[in-house]
This record gives sequence, structure tokens and C-alpha cells, in this order.
Amino acid sequence: MGAGYRMKRVSIFGATGSIGQNTIDLIRRDRAAFDVIALTGGRNIDQLAADAIALGADVAVTAHDDLLDDLRAALSGSGVQAAAGTQALIEAGSRPADWVMSAIVGAAGLRPGLAALEQGATLALANKESLVTAGPLMLQTARRHDARILPVDSEHSAIFQALAGEEADAVSRVIITASGGAFRDWPLEDLARATPEQAATHPNWDMGQRITIDSASMFNKALELIEAREFFGFTPDQIEVVIHPESMIHALVGFCDGGLMAHVGPPDMRHAIGYALYWPKRQALPIDILDLAAIGQFTFRPPDLRRYPALRLAREVMQTRGLLGAVFNGAKERALDHFIAGRIGFCDMCDVVDEVLTRLSARDGLIDAEITLDTVAKADHLARVCADEVAQKRAG
Ligand code: NDP
Ligand code: MG
Repeated sequence: MGAGYRMKRVSIFGATGSIGQNTIDLIRRDRAAFDVIALTGGRNIDQLAADAIALGADVAVTAHDDLLDDLRAALSGSGVQAAAGTQALIEAGSRPADWVMSAIVGAAGLRPGLAALEQGATLALANKESLVTAGPLMLQTARRHDARILPVDSEHSAIFQALAGEEADAVSRVIITASGGAFRDWPLEDLARATPEQAATHPNWDMGQRITIDSASMFNKALELIEAREFFGFTPDQIEVVIHPESMIHALVGFCDGGLMAHVGPPDMRHAIGYALYWPKRQALPIDILDLAAIGQFTFRPPDLRRYPALRLAREVMQTRGLLGAVFNGAKERALDHFIAGRIGFCDMCDVVDEVLTRLSARDGLIDAEITLDTVAKADHLARVCADEVAQKRAG
């Protein structure tokens, strides 16, 4: 270590999840470079405590107040502090750190991420819901505090990498790829009977349960379209989706001179996480080398809107913006809860979200209100209540 070397202080939100564990894997491989400040999790106390102890974190936080005693017990004698609850998550975001991974699933990731931006940290953003529900607030907060947001969603990391060194006004289009999810080859008429277990099997990526089901319905791609609109500022008609079953090309950026830059790599999130972790440098990462000749071909097909109606709803949200993103996400999260609980069918999820968008768009002043934490929370809440009503009606 040379003079002036300083360890990078890192915190990981959603440390016990799929992205969190991949982040920890990279940090363990380069232990001397990182000083771990805070790790947060939800119900998986054993994993949270084990990682916090192994990495020598200052504090471990569970989102659930009722699990504080369990966390304390699991950490006893280790010197790692224990904390619990929503406020403790936000406080963990405020602890000085250079780099913070935002990998809580769902709208719950918004406030801890904002707290990290407010203290000027670089926010590695896996939690796409933050940009979908409150994109302008995230970007404003980053600007105001001289903080940076680095995309971790693989498609957005790919776009970010393809844009490096390019002038923004030279970009003519971006193409986001989609695997097509678990049901891409199912007969359309069978989709209504698909079970949560069937939907939670991804053909290429190993991810958390919720995002995997969202891949089957393409609600994940819908969120990603909105995420691309909010983060990069592309207009809706500049952003395209193509089905690419191999999941090797993550996104392509098209320029005004007709050139198209594709980002290619195996479906391993440690690439996008590692890119954000070491940015602006590139670092050797444990990613398989692609043997293109052995792969033989990359294939593409257009997304069928009858199979993936969520893409149509995403277009509506991208056009309208405002608080419609928070409504869309809140309704989607509840529709997914109801599907996982077996109360509604797979295709009902989109119908529920569609009806919530219609009903709440008609409410005076709701969608056009300024985007603040309070208005986002209100729109999110109304969307969840409305989604519950609509889902209950469909469940019959
Ligand atoms: P997981 O379900 O695997 O992990 C979610 C994490 O969030 C866990 O640590 C979980 O804790 C915690 N958590 C769950 N609910 C809450 C809550 N209400 N408050 C605080 N923490 C909570 O999700 P993924 O890692 O798959 O996804 C995380 C985020 O990254 C999502 O926004 C997803 O869209 C995005 N993303 C994920 C990708 C992937 O490859 N997995 C790819 C691109 C984006 P516990 O498990 O202990 O209960
Ligand atoms: Mg993605």
C-alpha cells in the first residue's frame, strides 16, 4: 500500500439478498481495500450477523423491529452494533461512507438511498424502484450534495459503459435486452394458470424471487424502461426493448452516425456490481470468459405485447411521469404480493396495475403534485390500497 492509500468505506443495503451477497463476494476477494461500515438485511438474521462479523462491520441493521433481540444475540461479543427498524436503516445510510450499495428490494430502498446521497456518498443503485418512484428527487439530491449515482442494473450499467466518453446529443437510441423470462415459450393460453413457483425460475439469471417473477411478467423490464428514462433522460421513443434469450448482450446504444455499441458479457451481476465498486477504474473480476465460437449465435425477437402487456403500461408511465411511477410501482408490488400468496393469477397482475393507473390518474392533483418524499409516500400508499381493492374484486 502506497502513501496516501485509504480504504474505501462501504455500506451495503440489502446485504442478505442476491445483489448484496454478490457484492460481499467481491469485497471478500479484495478485503484490504474496503472498510465495511454498515450492512442491512431483513429477516435473514443469521446471514446478516455472519457477514457483519466476518467483514468487521461497525453496525448491522435489520429492517424489522421484532428481530432486534435475535440480531443482538447473534452479534453478541463481536463488537458489531445491532440496530433495527426503518429509522435505523436511514441512520445507517447517513453514516459516513464513500460507497453505498442500494440493494433493498422494493420502494423500501428509497429513503436509505437518499440518506446516502445526502451525506455525499457514491450510490451504487440496484434498487431500480428508487428511480421509478422518485427519479427527479434522487437526481436532485445527488446534485445538491455533490454525490454520484452509478447504475447497477445490468442493462443500465451496460448503457452507462457504452456512453463513456460520448456526447449525450450524439445518442439516437438505446436498446435494452430482455431474456423473456420463465414463460417466453409457453402457449399464451397457459399463462393465466402459471404458478408463482413456475414464474420464479429464470432461464439465465440467478436473482431474488420478486425480480425473477417480475422477469416472467416483464414488469422488471417495464421498471427498467422507466429507470432508463429517469436516469439517462432519454425520451420514451428513444428506448426500445428486444428479446434476447441468451442474455449475453445487456444493452446497446445507437449513435447518430449509425454506430451501435453493444455491451456483452455472461449473465453474472458481479460484473455490473464490480464496475460500480471500482469506478472509474476497471478491476479484474471473477467473471467467466465468453467463448463466442462455442456460443455460436445471439438471437433476437420482438416482444409480444399480448404476452408482456406490462411493457405497454411502462410507456404510459414514461410519457406521463410525475407520481405515476410511484403509483405504478406500488400497485405492481401489491399485485405481486397477491400473486405470490395465490390470491390472483399471473395475468391478473397486469390487469390490477392497469386499473390502479386508470383510477388514480383520474384523481385531481395526485399525479401532477411535486415529487417529494411525502407525495411519493402518499401515491405509493394510495396505489397499494387501490391494488388491494382491485385484486380482492378479481379474487372474487
Ligand atoms: P432479494 O430479494 O434477493 O434481496 C432483497 C434484500 O432486501 C434482502 O437483503 C432483504 O432482506 C432486504 N429486504 C427485503 N424487504 C425489505 C424491507 N422492507 N426493508 C428493508 N430491507 C428489505 O433481492 P435482489 O437482490 O434480487 O434485488 C435487490 C434489488 O436489486 C431490487 O430492487 C432488484 O430489482 C434489483 N436488481 C436485482 C438484480 C439481481 O440480479 N438480483 C439485478 C438487477 C437489479 P432479507 O432477505 O434478510 O429478508
Ligand atoms: Mg436488469
